[in-house]
Amino acid sequence: MNAPRPDAQEVWVHLLRGNQRFAAGAQLHPRSRPERREALLAGQAPTAAVLGCSDSRIPPELAFDQGIGDLFTVRTAGEVADDVVLGSLEFAVTALRVPLLVVLGHTSCGALRAAVEVANGTSSAPEHVRDIVDRVSAAVLGAPAEEASAVHAREIMRHLPLWSETIAAALAEEALTIVAAVYSLETGLVTEVGRLPEAVSR
Ligand SMILES: [Zn+2]
Repeated sequence: MNAPRPDAQEVWVHLLRGNQRFAAGAQLHPRSRPERREALLAGQAPTAAVLGCSDSRIPPELAFDQGIGDLFTVRTAGEVADDVVLGSLEFAVTALRVPLLVVLGHTSCGALRAAVEVANGTSSAPEHVRDIVDRVSAAVLGAPAEEASAVHAREIMRHLPLWSETIAAALAEEALTIVAAVYSLETGLVTEVGRLPEAVSR
């Protein structure tokens, strides 16, 4: 019998509290000592998966003030997803049974800037960088610069269940919530910009 999955909203609130500590310089650096390493020898049970940007300024464990074993992270430039990324996320959802998947974009993302420049013809991209910029949707290229990060995180979130039947099934079974969020380089704070299943207004 599998243990029940934690509640996605509770996990998200827990992560946002950690982010507030991080932004305020009041980190606890929890669960990072040798005892924690030892406790995880038998296996991992992360509370969330994060698909974030490779940008060195946004390590998810630090930005959410989490410890080892807490987050299953996949990072690519511009948090774009290919088959290998989807496979990693499917593993987190099915084998690790994470209830929450965070698509974490950020302000001033170089990958988004590169995609705009390539689309404008003002710059060319090396061979495999092209694979990254090709995965930035047209909706992002047409968005005002200050909204591009939020539009992009929402686009990736929206596409995940279209690209992965496993993720779509987990959403349909209410076993998974996907949150799109943007990290501000200026404030260090993370803001939710979208979620699936969509919140019911009451
Ligand atoms: Zn970035």
